[in-house]
Amino acid sequence: MELLQPSSLDDPIPSNSLLLSGGTEVVPLLRDGLLDADVLVDVRGIVPRGIDGTRIGAGTTLAELEVDSAIPDALREACRLAASPQLRNMGSLAGNLLQSTRCWYWRLDFPCRLHGGDTCHARAGEHREHAIFGNGFCASAHPSDVAAALIALGATMRTTKRELAVADLYRLPTDDDRSLTTLEPGELILELEVPQPERSTYLKAMERRRWSFPIVGVAAARTGDERTIVLAGVAPTPWVLDSPEALADATPLPGTAYKVEIAQALVRRVLQALA
Ligand SMILES: Cc1cc2nc3c(=O)[nH]c(=O)nc-3n(C[C@H](O)[C@H](O)[C@H](O)COP(=O)(O)OP(=O)(O)OC[C@H]3O[C@@H](n4cnc5c(N)ncnc54)[C@H](O)[C@@H]3O)c2cc1C
Ligand code: SF4
Repeated sequence: MELLQPSSLDDPIPSNSLLLSGGTEVVPLLRDGLLDADVLVDVRGIVPRGIDGTRIGAGTTLAELEVDSAIPDALREACRLAASPQLRNMGSLAGNLLQSTRCWYWRLDFPCRLHGGDTCHARAGEHREHAIFGNGFCASAHPSDVAAALIALGATMRTTKRELAVADLYRLPTDDDRSLTTLEPGELILELEVPQPERSTYLKAMERRRWSFPIVGVAAARTGDERTIVLAGVAPTPWVLDSPEALADATPLPGTAYKVEIAQALVRRVLQALA
C-alpha cells in the first residue's frame, strides 16, 4: 500500500485512494479488513486546522476544541465526552463526522444491508445499542456526539466541491443507495462555520463515565425563541427532533425501548438548561 502526503489541494488524489486524518478510525478498519485501498492519502497537510472565530478547520482535533472557551458549550461538551483523551488528541473533526457505524454485525463483516446484503441482522438479533428512529432499513445508531452538536448549532461546512449544512451531510440508507452520507468519492471536508447561539448544551447517557459511545446524546441550542434539539445514538444518522413531543413517534425495537425513556429525561434536562 502506498502512502501519499500532499501539501497542496492542487496535488492530484488518485480515485482508488482512502483519505486519512488522525487514523483512529481508518487504521482499525484497515486492520480488520473492512476497508481496503491501494493508496492512503494523509490529508493533514492540505486540510485546515485551528479555530478562527466561528470558523473551524476540519483538521482541528477534538482535544483542541474541548479546551477553547470561544467554542459553543454544546460542541465543547460533545468533544469532551467523546472517546478517550488519546483518541481526542489524534481524532479530527472531519474524521469524527465520517466515522463508521459501531453496529457489531457490521464490524464483524456480517453480509448485512449496509454491507450490500438483504438483511438487517440487528433487527432480529442483538440490538440493545441500536436505533429508535429511522430504523426500518438499517437499525444502526449514529455514534458521533460531535455531529449532533454541530447540527443543533446550525453549522455549515465547506468541502472541495460545495458548501452545505452539516445536517445535509447525512442520509438514511435505502435499497438503491446504502451510504449514510452524501459525500462524493474524493470530496474533502475543509472547514466548518459554527454560529454562536445565546445558549447551548450537550448531555450524554453512556455505559461508562469515560470512553463510551452515546447510548443517547442530546444537543440543544437556543437563540431568541429559536430552539433546536438533535439526538445522537438513536438513528442511523444524527436525528433532529422537531419538538420534545416528537419522541412519541419513536419506533424502538424490543431491545431499544429503554432508550426512549432516557431520551425523554435528557430532553427535559436540556430544555431546563436552555431556559
Ligand atoms: C474506542 C473509540 C471510542 C470512541 N468514542 C467516541 C465517542 O464516544 N463519541 C464520538 O463522537 N466519537 C467517538 N469515537 C470516534 C473518534 O472520535 C473518531 O475515531 C475520530 O474523531 C476520527 O477522526 P480521525 O481524524 O482519526 O479520522 P480518520 O480515521 O483519519 O478518518 C475517519 C474517516 O474520515 C475520513 N476523513 C478524514 N478526514 C477527512 C476530510 N478532511 N475530508 C473527508 N474525509 C475525511 C476518512 O477517509 C475516514 O473515512 C471513538 C473512537 C474509538 C476508536
Ligand atoms: S443495523 Fe445496519 S449495520 Fe447493523 S446489521 Fe443492520 S443493516 Fe447492518
